[in-house]
Amino acid sequence: MDIKAEQEQTTLFAEPERPDGRRVLPVIEEQKDIRYFAATPRSVMNGPKATGMGFWSINPYIGCAFGCAYCYARYAHRYTAERLSTAADHGDADALPTDEMPPWLAFERRIMIKREAPELVRRALARPGTLEALRRETVVIGTATDPYQPAERRFRITRGVLEVLAEQTGIRVAIITKSPLVTRDVDVLRRINERSRLTIHISLITVDREIARILEPRAPTPEARLRAIARLRANGIETGVNCMPVLPGITDAPEMIEELVRSVKAADASYISACALRLQATARDRYLPFIAAEFPELAKKYSRAYATGYQVSEKYRDGLAERFKIVCARNGIAFGRHNRGADDDDEDEEIELEAMSAQLGLQI
Ligand code: SF4
Repeated sequence: MDIKAEQEQTTLFAEPERPDGRRVLPVIEEQKDIRYFAATPRSVMNGPKATGMGFWSINPYIGCAFGCAYCYARYAHRYTAERLSTAADHGDADALPTDEMPPWLAFERRIMIKREAPELVRRALARPGTLEALRRETVVIGTATDPYQPAERRFRITRGVLEVLAEQTGIRVAIITKSPLVTRDVDVLRRINERSRLTIHISLITVDREIARILEPRAPTPEARLRAIARLRANGIETGVNCMPVLPGITDAPEMIEELVRSVKAADASYISACALRLQATARDRYLPFIAAEFPELAKKYSRAYATGYQVSEKYRDGLAERFKIVCARNGIAFGRHNRGADDDDEDEEIELEAMSAQLGLQI
């Protein structure tokens, strides 16, 4: 599993080492209610074997300040925090705190920064075989947490990674984000696009601003994301939309899907993919109480719909896919695959996107 592999490659080493030999994570900076810590990973590139999928992944940050109610990546943060509290004294002000707030909130407010990520990517690409592999297998930035979350404005780790990737030719790069901050890097993105194959996936589950604010309280507005899509497309960059997850009873009304697809098409997005909410145990712990508080009329329906597993029924999923297909066809936008035109009708690309979607449906 991608995130587990990610954590296993992230050492708990931190400076300064304390006199008693125990190690703690240094706080780099604080901004309002968010505290940033330095993580020192041995590696930031997880290969296809580690991800369990057909692609590589890079996540410059652990934790994500966007705080989406349905996010499943929260558990990775807890896993790291628990390891940290074992490595350092409980109550140590410099350790990643685990007792001052619930783990699901610490995921949003205690962000670990992989400052050496660009250099680690450079080193990885220098190893025999890695560069060749990236010509066959896509490296996806942001599979677990958003690479353009607010921390990126300050630390510019994602940009640093992209600068390194831009030095290469013929590789395959994808980025997943909810943030229009990605357009800040349009210069380096254009360089990658000229020399390699680049796709940007903008996550957008609704264009209803009020509902988005409840579900994704600190994420950029839908309008800002649509503007980002238009800007990236105007720069010739392949940019699609991941409508993941579709939330039963909240974002799946026919008129909402119609409006979403119409808006995405108007922004000139290359394609749209969609996947119903999957509720793994870790997402369930946060999402179901959230539903009880914000959408109490849906609480029982959710408990029933996800009573026996992490997926909603096959009938629902098939119906959802069918609806998207019809609405996308009506609006003239590709559903569930890249739209690279007749000359690049790449079967592999479709399979890769499906595999990616299967994973991302859990998180973004
Ligand atoms: S779903 Fe994505 S953007 Fe939202 S909190 Fe999780 S990692 Fe961040």
